[in-house]
Amino acid sequence: ELFTTANAELPTVGNTKTKGGEGRLMHRSLIQHPSMVESASGIYLNLANGKRVIDACGGAAVALIGHANEEVIQAISDQARKVSYVHTQAYTTQPAEELADLILDGNPHGLEKAFFVCSGSEAVESALKLARQYHFENGQPQRKHFIGRKQAYHGNTMATMSISTVASRKIPYEGFCYPHVSYVSPAYPYQYQRVDETEDEFTARLLAEIEDEFQRVGPDTVIAFVAETMVGATAGCVAPPVGYIAGARQICDKHGALLILDEVMCGTGRTGTYFAFEQEGAVPDIVTVAKGLGGGYGPIAGVLMHEKVVSMLRQGSNAFNHGHTYQAHPIACAAALAVQRIVKREDLVARCAQLGKQLEVLLRIELINCKSVGEIRGRGLFWAVEFVKDRETKETFEPKLRFGLRVQERAFEKGVALYPGAGTVDGSRGDHVLLAPPFTTTEEELRRICSVFREALEEVE
Ligand code: PLP
Repeated sequence: ELFTTANAELPTVGNTKTKGGEGRLMHRSLIQHPSMVESASGIYLNLANGKRVIDACGGAAVALIGHANEEVIQAISDQARKVSYVHTQAYTTQPAEELADLILDGNPHGLEKAFFVCSGSEAVESALKLARQYHFENGQPQRKHFIGRKQAYHGNTMATMSISTVASRKIPYEGFCYPHVSYVSPAYPYQYQRVDETEDEFTARLLAEIEDEFQRVGPDTVIAFVAETMVGATAGCVAPPVGYIAGARQICDKHGALLILDEVMCGTGRTGTYFAFEQEGAVPDIVTVAKGLGGGYGPIAGVLMHEKVVSMLRQGSNAFNHGHTYQAHPIACAAALAVQRIVKREDLVARCAQLGKQLEVLLRIELINCKSVGEIRGRGLFWAVEFVKDRETKETFEPKLRFGLRVQERAFEKGVALYPGAGTVDGSRGDHVLLAPPFTTTEEELRRICSVFREALEEVE
């Protein structure tokens, strides 16, 4: 159970237990087999057993424009014919250059360069190394410490796991993790803001804790403060309280540390602005994006770096001391370029913001009588419903009840795929399911998603 249901990853529903005779592919679990998908189109997944499922979570907030978009398919096949692969040590390709330009040209945030890799974990890992290199080149090699947050997920590689706090994923690797990391409280108002505390007071308390942590570890030893701008899977679409990210920015500046915002899940338009940090009045030194970047059409993620970081490299080694064989892969870049061009041309971020308002209304109406709904929260098309045993005390269901997972399973049986959160299963608060439909979803589809969600929840309640 530790490594399957506690996994803040793909739905486990529709799975069948094998009685031996399983295939050679190593799945996430040896006993649960994922559903075979034969084809996917728009918001629909067509399973091999004939079932049709609405992909209301885009995998894990990945499918930005839905599945099987002809323009993207064409771009991928054109690129495969032109150049499928070259090594970036010696070569570059048009789609990689154009993708960086498309994302960064004209951006008002001072983000200067993009570094493309294949996954969110690689992007965050690269960001951590880049931040360390920044200080190294700045003549501050004593900076070794990262301050992260509790109830955070930044990836599965050794360094990204080290700054994450998803216990189930870390247990076997205690002692392997990067040691110079500490964690402050989550900026999670529903569960952690005190009843006698205003939002401003909550923000102030959290910021004081960050400042204290800098002082405790020594301000001149800190490389960066690392946080998801809006928390995704570990708590469920949690926006920080007003002033929190801007306050963290100020603390980092005061102590010469960098601010790394992980927008692997909440970036590229998902929250109704291209970057989630645009709603926070602060700009990070490094921001990571991933899931929506390629919209699922190619494995691609990006590390976007502020000119402050790039100019430090320019004054020093003139290089980023990091690289992967498959970085800036031409076909993945061509796929992402096509996806991002569509997003731009069709003004889909604005559509996401506008559809998000409808999704919120629908969720609030549909779930009004569901007694286990603690909070409905989100931005853009990034919404979560948190379940509690008791609305007054906000007490969570016991992990063994697998409440959120059961809601997700029921919804899947009824033809709607939701994304289950780690929440209580991982021993922390925030048992939830997450919705992240494509920006191209229709109102009719949103209505269907919400009514099936309600039916599923009523059955579990
Ligand atoms: N950072 C955040 C915020 C994530 O949500 C995830 C994945 O869920 C990652 C990093 C890791 O990305 P990947 O699974 O592509 O390695």
